[in-house]
Amino acid sequence: MKRYVVLGASAAGISGADMLRKLDKEAEILLISEETEIYSKCIMHYYMSGDKTKEQISFINKTFLKDNRICWKKGKRAVKINCTEKKVFLEDGEGVSYDKLLIATGSRGYLPPVKGLDNAENVCAFHTLGDCEIVLKKACTARNIVILGAGLVGVDAAYGLLHLKKRITMLDVNSHMMAVQLDQRAADIYEKEFDKRGVHQIYNTGIKEALKDDDGRIRELILTDGKTLPCDLLIIAAGTRANTELLEQTDLKRDQYGLLINEYSQTSDRSVYGAGDITGKNMVWPSAAKEAMTAAYHMTGTKFPMTDFFKGKATIHTFNIPTMAYGLPKAPDDSYTVEIKEKENGSYQKVIHKEGKIFGMILQGDLYFAGILNQLISTKADIRKLDKPVLELEYGDLIGSSREVGHI
Ligand SMILES: Cc1cc2nc3c(=O)[nH]c(=O)nc-3n(C[C@H](O)[C@H](O)[C@H](O)COP(=O)(O)OP(=O)(O)OC[C@H]3O[C@@H](n4cnc5c(N)ncnc54)[C@H](O)[C@@H]3O)c2cc1C
Repeated sequence: MKRYVVLGASAAGISGADMLRKLDKEAEILLISEETEIYSKCIMHYYMSGDKTKEQISFINKTFLKDNRICWKKGKRAVKINCTEKKVFLEDGEGVSYDKLLIATGSRGYLPPVKGLDNAENVCAFHTLGDCEIVLKKACTARNIVILGAGLVGVDAAYGLLHLKKRITMLDVNSHMMAVQLDQRAADIYEKEFDKRGVHQIYNTGIKEALKDDDGRIRELILTDGKTLPCDLLIIAAGTRANTELLEQTDLKRDQYGLLINEYSQTSDRSVYGAGDITGKNMVWPSAAKEAMTAAYHMTGTKFPMTDFFKGKATIHTFNIPTMAYGLPKAPDDSYTVEIKEKENGSYQKVIHKEGKIFGMILQGDLYFAGILNQLISTKADIRKLDKPVLELEYGDLIGSSREVGHI
């Protein structure tokens, strides 16, 4: 019987295993993960805030593995892959053979090379459920919590800690919150909500050095503007890196970001596939799931190439304020056209395009326009062929002109 081995049990691993079973009813599917829980990182902050239990942040139902005859080896770290022998080796020495392998071992938080940050007991990541438990425990006794990074991860960490009523400061080298996804106008509303809840925010500033006490614990941060900040818990949310250690002794091709895959999620070895954050690109949940499903198709013998529809797409619901962002938050130069629409109810719409192609969009508050924009983006429509500004379009305009709308 054919054996598919899937390394990693998160967005990519679970989506891949699920699709493998849909496409191959007979094969053996073996899922291996270092962690012992299956949960969504996107809603992990609700566990930290006490709004949800561990069970409620799971994204599979209780019988998923049994129903799909997926054997899960949990709490097992893979340490080596031998592509010639088609074997994965686990930390406890066990060797697991595969016919086809899907590597979906994801990513981890990045510790910036700042003097004093390494080996400090009160520096934590916020990337896994395990990190979440550690942060919660340490936060209970901390007085001054600093979160380095006000991107999606930093914002989640801050939200998750609000209920502890501690002094929280968010630091970011960018000029505003979630700067990769949002412009200042869209970020404003979230910054104000955090402000109202007492979260201090410092932008355009990073950490120059962390000063430690005699026990090796950070007690104060020297910032890049020369000011100092008291700190007895530092949460690092300043970037993500692919978990590439496992690939090091293999010939699997990599680039500076992570594992290289083609449009079928296949690596440089014909029996090995990759999906999700391990590639170091498009590090968002929908991309991980889609790459894994694409891999499953190819692993079971169907060619179903992937499009980059989800690249850079983010949805934000912090404080129940919905925002959807795609691509560039700001026009890089004057050669781009920027359309903006603001309504009295606070809703905000922005589209950035050039030569008929959409490069970025932000929808905040009212998301009804998302369907139209998604359609334009996914069909790669040439918007020059539509005779209205993008933000004036209605569904009827797309249907009526579908044959005239070209693809680029
Ligand atoms: C706090 C936070 C909030 C986020 N919010 C959003 C959001 O709102 N929207 C969005 O689209 N994306 C969000 N993301 C990003 C999204 O969660 C990731 O893109 C997605 O989880 C990637 O899935 P993955 O399966 O590739 O890897 P991961 O989720 O990193 O999972 C990796 C899996 O591999 C296992 N593993 C790792 N190493 C080994 C090994 N050596 N052996 C065996 N198993 C191993 C792990 O145990 C885990 O099961 C967020 C991320 C974080 C950290």
